[in-house]
Amino acid sequence: MAQKSDCVFCKIIRSEIPAQKVYEDDFVFGFKDIAPVAPIHCLFVPKNHMDSLVHLEDLNLMEKLYKALLLVAEKEGLTKTGFRSVINTGTEGGQTVFHLHLHLIGGRQLSPRMS
Ligand code: 5GP
Ligand code: ZN
Repeated sequence: MAQKSDCVFCKIIRSEIPAQKVYEDDFVFGFKDIAPVAPIHCLFVPKNHMDSLVHLEDLNLMEKLYKALLLVAEKEGLTKTGFRSVINTGTEGGQTVFHLHLHLIGGRQLSPRMS
């Protein structure tokens, strides 16, 4: 599925909802999270809509998403200090927006807790 009309991240990709862009190429869009949990909190999404990691058909897309995440992490100095990269999947995985996305979280000491 290329895009989904009622998806908030598809709307961001189409510039129908404003967002602070941090990265863009032909396949990936990166932007700041609207409710950051750390000084740096960005999201990286495929331009083609897919509900979650479970719906990923092409593993090459993960390489593209993580490359984008690492580029921004490097630019923000996080590759020196450390950061967290997270994919929440499905309701029990804590996913609230059902368009696959990677979180890049950093800029402060994060707890080792996974919950
Ligand atoms: P999830 O819980 O699905 O892993 O993460 C969804 C993330 O999307 C949350 O961190 C939330 O703050 C962020 N988010 C939800 N709606 C918007 C929006 O309209 N704009 C931006 N920039 N982030 C959003
Ligand atoms: Zn979408």
